[in-house]
Amino acid sequence: MTVIGHWINGELIADTGRTQDVFNPATGLATKQVALASKATVEHAIAKAQAAFPAWRNTPPGKRAQIMFKLKQLLDQHVDDICALITDEHGKVLNDAAGELQRGIEVVEYMCGVPDLLKGEHSKNVGPAIDSWSERQALGVVAGITPFNFPAMVPLWIAIPAIACGNTMVLKPSERDPSCMLLIAKLAKQAGLPDGVLNVVNGDKEAVDTLLTDPRIQAIGFVGSTVIAEYIYATGCANGKRVKALGGAKNHAIIMPDADIDNAATALMGAAFGSCGERCMAISVAVAVGDAVADALVAKLTERLATLKVGPGTDNNNDMGPLITRQHRDKVLGYIDSAEQQGASVAVDGRGLSVPGHENGYFIGATLLDHVKKEMKSYKEEIFGPVLCVVRVGSMAEAMQLIDDHEYGNGTCIFTRDGEAARYFSDNIKVGMVGINVPLPVPVAYHSFCGWKRSAFGDNGMYGPDSVNFFTRRKTVTQRWPTGGVRETAQFAFPDNQ
Ligand code: NAD
Repeated sequence: MTVIGHWINGELIADTGRTQDVFNPATGLATKQVALASKATVEHAIAKAQAAFPAWRNTPPGKRAQIMFKLKQLLDQHVDDICALITDEHGKVLNDAAGELQRGIEVVEYMCGVPDLLKGEHSKNVGPAIDSWSERQALGVVAGITPFNFPAMVPLWIAIPAIACGNTMVLKPSERDPSCMLLIAKLAKQAGLPDGVLNVVNGDKEAVDTLLTDPRIQAIGFVGSTVIAEYIYATGCANGKRVKALGGAKNHAIIMPDADIDNAATALMGAAFGSCGERCMAISVAVAVGDAVADALVAKLTERLATLKVGPGTDNNNDMGPLITRQHRDKVLGYIDSAEQQGASVAVDGRGLSVPGHENGYFIGATLLDHVKKEMKSYKEEIFGPVLCVVRVGSMAEAMQLIDDHEYGNGTCIFTRDGEAARYFSDNIKVGMVGINVPLPVPVAYHSFCGWKRSAFGDNGMYGPDSVNFFTRRKTVTQRWPTGGVRETAQFAFPDNQ
């Protein structure tokens, strides 16, 4: 069986240590294995990244931009190869894989402007014959640790801004779908990226803990579940690193009485069930304002769910592929059971779905739960599956309170025709990314992505301007060239600018 290795210093490296099976979620078969990097392997990658740093940091930003341009072209040319790997190991439908890759490529496009993004500020004559400027300097060797659900997009969110800004990187993708980032690293080399600038180590906790504690790592970008994000943030900071760690989510959509319910139901289908609900921005709670709205919404969603196609991601006619692992599918089924036991009504039941020819795949049907209450486990916790909970409230104020009281604050949206209500909502809701009649308000590459509350730890967001801030540090230089042979006289008072 193929053992997927690492990409270190511009070449594929086999590993002789521990391995883990990689499954095709549509068939349930272990088709490959992935090497789990030892501490020594990760340290080797860090050493190569450190050796590459001096030359890379001094490479003109314009030259780095040219490599980004070339990488963008190569990614465009290899969309089919990359998406085939994503679908094989993650399970999502090919179209959906192409969507995630495109959002990652947009980050590469944004970073093609890195010479402009890194421009500092200059002030002349801040004192007699004194000029001052600030500049953004790369940090050194930085690390990225990424989740299974976006095996191309999220690594690109982190790695591309980091290296474009002049850092060198050790990236650890999810061990559940490790292949596509190795291909992307290979394409980066073809684009002209020097060896050692982008290294990919596959692995688990041993690799992560090495990155968290090694003094050569200056900063860590993490995306994953909240419990691990909190661990990464606390451990990384305790080890003196700059850390940005994004975590889990429970994203609510408010459906107001004046909303176009047909449009809202259609939008919620993709937002709740796309990628089998395994998106940190998936809408997992529909908050219906009034029973009439709830009844109409549940009826329209039930009608649409009857035609939802579930099957292998290799067939673009399917709307939804399988979940990532058998264990995760069992966990999602457990949430549906628990909601039912706690009094929710199962309006559409995805339990027991079997896909002909793929009986051992990790499939589950889309599920709609009505009359969900905030005390229920299925409401409080992130399910990360194709399960939409409908919570019924009496007013917009009650809907907003529900959202504000939830521990997560990644994304949210409101469906309404009332501009004043929408404006009030976006201004006051305690959530980082807000949509108005837009169910998945994932910021474009030239803005930044960041949730609030326990969906994110640390300052700055991912990609966009925040990533330039995160992966550089400011230095301010004050300069005087004495003119006309004037000698310094000793000054004991604090220098002012007169
Ligand atoms: P995860 O937290 O299990 O894993 C993320 C990374 O952490 C992986 O690389 C994994 O190898 C590593 N890891 C796992 N356990 C570890 C441990 N004990 N010690 C050290 N490292 C460990 O997350 P996942 O299941 O791969 O991804 C799904 C989660 O990611 C969901 O909660 C989802 O909401 C979240 N997510 C968030 C965003 C966001 O932008 N906020 C985006 C995508 C996914």
